Amino acid sequence: MRAEILSIGTELLLGQIVDTNAHYLAGRLADLGIDCLFISTVGDNLGRTTELMRRALERSDLVITSGGLGPTEDDLTRETIAAVLGETPQIDPELERQLRAWFAARNVSMPERNRKQAWLIPSARAIPNPNGTAPGWDVRREGKRIVSMPGVPREMTHMWEHHIEPTLIRDARLRSRTLKILGVGESQAEETLAELVRSTAPTVVTKAKDDGLHIRITDKDADPATMDARIAAMEAKVRERLGQYVWGTDDEQLGDVIARGLESRRWRLATAEALSAGDVSRTLAQAPRANEWFTTGVVVPHADAASLARAIEHSEAQVRLLVPHGDASAEISVVTPDRPRSATIRFGSVAEGRRRAWLAALDLLRRALA
Ligand code: ATP
Ligand code: MG
Repeated sequence: MRAEILSIGTELLLGQIVDTNAHYLAGRLADLGIDCLFISTVGDNLGRTTELMRRALERSDLVITSGGLGPTEDDLTRETIAAVLGETPQIDPELERQLRAWFAARNVSMPERNRKQAWLIPSARAIPNPNGTAPGWDVRREGKRIVSMPGVPREMTHMWEHHIEPTLIRDARLRSRTLKILGVGESQAEETLAELVRSTAPTVVTKAKDDGLHIRITDKDADPATMDARIAAMEAKVRERLGQYVWGTDDEQLGDVIARGLESRRWRLATAEALSAGDVSRTLAQAPRANEWFTTGVVVPHADAASLARAIEHSEAQVRLLVPHGDASAEISVVTPDRPRSATIRFGSVAEGRRRAWLAALDLLRRALA
């Protein structure tokens, strides 16, 4: 399948915003093994968006657009698709009802011009948008597919991950498994994986991400049972070499793993941070059922371990995490009813220290609870 991305919006051409949407979508397509052959940017001009859309449909099977789904005069993506396909937009009563309900829930009356966000053409299905007013369009005609999403990144990524990517994975006959790893760098991991990263069925790809290293095992174009068996066999080989560093798989987050560890031991947690400036408590506060196991999160800028310990000494939590300040190094510690543990991180700048402290603290916690 050949895909291409169209970023629509004059702001992009004026250099007022950076096209992070295309960057995001290109990465997701690459992860899926879908070839993306063009990324284009066009302003809010019906003649030019139409010209570009027409050309995109000639050369690509999947055309993905972001931007131009708003209610205003210069939001022209729906008009563009309708013009290229020769279809006439009509208000969809159910979409209009949802749109009015969205405004009513916020106690504002819906501006008339928003009605066009309830438009559909016969070939389009609406893509739900829980983060905003404009639904996307998922258009299928004559073997081609156009996916149009809003420009606002948060709205776009939600649609992509919940409504579009799952259908692409199904259609592409693709399976994958991600192992998430902490405590070993990318080059060391690749060296350990050695010949495994040259495998072709399945493929093994490492990627440095915010929460450590991801090892993605992907198989395609076989029957599901074969793909599952090949992926499981490869996962076993990877775990044989790097298993001690694996903290989770697929969609699992570090917070999920820590939450499970605390819940299974019926322990509660208090954190006191200096170097990580509250990043650890922010991550944990968003984890599942945090209210049941996260008692206290304190930030004391520049504090040493002793002051941090004092800051949470009255907490009833059984598990205590301290992330003291440091200039070039810092010793992070976790105390559980079993035993104390610590890890020292080294860094060259405050920003690097803050990031390392955040990851090392979460890693130390998940090890202490494993
Ligand atoms: P809205 O309903 O909010 O008007 P829209 O679909 O019409 O959404 P635009 O008006 O094109 O989208 O863009 C809305 C905002 O989304 C922009 O001001 C910008 O902040 C952001 N945005 C748009 N396109 C991109 C992009 N390609 N990359 C990153 N951010 C973008
Ligand atoms: Mg807009």
